[in-house]
Amino acid sequence: MSRSVEAFVEKVVARNPGEVEFHQAVYEVFDSIMPYVEKNPVYQKNKILERLVEPERTIIFRITWVNDKGEIQVNRGFRVQMNSAIGPYKGGFRFHPSVNLSIMKFLAFEQVFKNSLTTLPIGGGKGGTDFDPKGKSDNEVMRFCQAFMSELFRHIGPETDVPAGDIGVGGREIGFLFGQYKKLRNEFTGVLTGKGYGWGGSLVRPEATGYGLLYFVEEMLKTRKETLKGKIVAISGSGNVAQYAAEKAMRMGGKVVSFSDSNGSVYDPNGVDEKKLKFIKELKNIKRGRIKEYADKFNCQYLDGQHPWGIKCDVALPCATQNEVDGNEAKTLVKNGCVCVAEGANMPNNPDAIKVYLDAKILYGPGKAANAGGVAVSGLEMSQNSMLLSWPREEVDRRLNDIMKAIHSQCARYGKQGDFINYVAGANIGGFVKVADAMIAQGAI
Ligand code: NDP
Repeated sequence: MSRSVEAFVEKVVARNPGEVEFHQAVYEVFDSIMPYVEKNPVYQKNKILERLVEPERTIIFRITWVNDKGEIQVNRGFRVQMNSAIGPYKGGFRFHPSVNLSIMKFLAFEQVFKNSLTTLPIGGGKGGTDFDPKGKSDNEVMRFCQAFMSELFRHIGPETDVPAGDIGVGGREIGFLFGQYKKLRNEFTGVLTGKGYGWGGSLVRPEATGYGLLYFVEEMLKTRKETLKGKIVAISGSGNVAQYAAEKAMRMGGKVVSFSDSNGSVYDPNGVDEKKLKFIKELKNIKRGRIKEYADKFNCQYLDGQHPWGIKCDVALPCATQNEVDGNEAKTLVKNGCVCVAEGANMPNNPDAIKVYLDAKILYGPGKAANAGGVAVSGLEMSQNSMLLSWPREEVDRRLNDIMKAIHSQCARYGKQGDFINYVAGANIGGFVKVADAMIAQGAI
């Protein structure tokens, strides 16, 4: 870490004690943009870095709801409205017991740069709660979502802040949240994305993060004159992102050999096919069961309590959660011949792991570039809502593909270091410039 980054991060740590994920995200971004900022003093003069680490607004609220036994439950809700320089705040809701202010701020901070990279006019935010949807009935989830929105509706809106899904928030939750917003406001607007098709949703939104990830991987491999055909792909997670990443990887000719959840991983050396993927979708989206059942059903190895990073693969796609790959696991991936790591999840590789990839000069695509397809199609959903029309599947998919290519070009433009593309630097600087220039243009606000 350079002296100036160290000094800056120290101040952030002192002002935001205990927010370790937020510190990590700030360090990762500023470490790569600092040389650019130092070459362009206008950013320092306008205190852009100091402004970027301070959310424009943070809302923390109580959620009270009643479970099926008639008992009162209390949870905590968050919405971090990080930066609106280039458009309304946009970023998902996470429903997971680990949610706290640090995780919300790290995700909102990352979202600012990611949204800027998409080429669309969207600012950055993130929200969520420590409510755990696991093991809850549909009615409990509905009552919780209604209670959550009963507070949040006054802070969001189609031109202010447009949330979407994230971990623990899929189509079911978006439906309940949208219904409550509509009831309270008495208006039908595009206040949330990830809505169902038929009531304002966009085709390809459920698939967008996973598909976009693979479009990005395709571009990365192209720089080395390679394709996904015949490559062995290790995926972690088994939720929305993992499922559609696997689907697209298979359709591009890759062989997907793993999935995971918070209990363990499955290793299927024969490769996942459409039938097995259908089983996972039903298991995770409808039955809400554990990934071990895949190993039992298809008679393959279950790695209890383990990540899939010990599996030999050409391409690794972490699609579960933050900090799920450490330095040792990254070394194992590289040693086993992995040539490309692209992040479906947000910040799944810790700083030691990232260093291993950069030192080994393998292709490494950070989440804010590689997984931006989800928010990009959310942006397209907002456009369709504003125009009161819906584009056909092919059109949305084509636009998604174009956006992922444009993100890749920005990474290459700002991250080229001789023959090597440093996608971390490329994504961070590319995302930063647009937001920073807009902030300067809008004055000291
Ligand atoms: P889902 O809730 O659909 O799936 C999450 C998956 O990750 C599940 O398999 C879950 O397992 C696993 N997981 C969650 N928390 C942990 C944990 N602490 N340890 C181990 N495994 C865990 O979420 P998504 O697929 O939507 O999101 C996955 C990642 O992708 C997140 O980092 C999210 O921020 C990121 N992302 C999502 C986007 C989207 O459009 N949905 C867009 C961009 C990024 P289990 O069932 O056991 O909890």
